[in-house]
Amino acid sequence: MENKREILKVVDLQKKFHKLEVLKGISTTFHENEVVSIIGPSGGGKSTFLRCLNLLEQPTSGQILFDGTDICTIKGKAIDHCRQRMGMVFQQFNLFSNMDVMHNLTAAPVRIKGMSQSDAQEKALELLAKVGLADRADAYPSQLSGGQKQRIAIVRSLMMDPEVMLFDEPTSALDPEMVGEVLDLMRDLAKDGMTMAVVTHEMGFAREVADRVVFMADGKILEEGSPTDIFDHPQDPRLQDFLSKVL
Ligand code: ADP
Ligand code: MG
Repeated sequence: MENKREILKVVDLQKKFHKLEVLKGISTTFHENEVVSIIGPSGGGKSTFLRCLNLLEQPTSGQILFDGTDICTIKGKAIDHCRQRMGMVFQQFNLFSNMDVMHNLTAAPVRIKGMSQSDAQEKALELLAKVGLADRADAYPSQLSGGQKQRIAIVRSLMMDPEVMLFDEPTSALDPEMVGEVLDLMRDLAKDGMTMAVVTHEMGFAREVADRVVFMADGKILEEGSPTDIFDHPQDPRLQDFLSKVL
């Protein structure tokens, strides 16, 4: 990975909510085409970290270099532009419930990127076909299963041609029988070379798909390495303890 482009380089990132220190100096780099899984106990700061990367939270200090530019200091329109280049997928899908699938997919590219409605529809149909949901273009979110909703949410991100995708526990709200279809789609994205940061409790995905696993607890990265390093040779006692509970 060393000679790959550094898409996101995070340097000593800190986030406080009033007196509560939630991120206590996070440093790591996400390289182009890399899939990084972020694991760790609940409350450790994983969601806050992803939200800072996407500027949904303003970091208290530190740097986030996105393709070389420190995005912690940008303002206004530049923030919107930066967000457009990153996809974010949440546990709770966040689809617009009053719009059918097609409009969920075309709204942002048309409004924000100035794409024509017909180009956006064509692109949406292509992507829907790719994920096996071409027949659901007219459905409303309430008519979809959880697994379908999350696959649509991923397609909605892809409509913007993101340079990196951030996933925050994308399968945690799903019934067990639907986890597989979402993980399969994420596996396909990884194969296609998408740069991905994935907060997940799916240790199988972290082991099999990720190039690197980051263990976060108590606002810090306590250990990171290859899946083999992390799962077969964990060093930090907190990581050993965490794995003994989840594996
Ligand atoms: P994780 O995703 O690893 O479970 P979070 O990033 O959600 O961890 O939370 C880390 C800590 O930050 C928790 O103690 C949580 O209560 C706190 N926290 C998160 N968001 C806020 C907020 N907007 N205001 C105050 N505290 C927050
Ligand atoms: Mg979280």
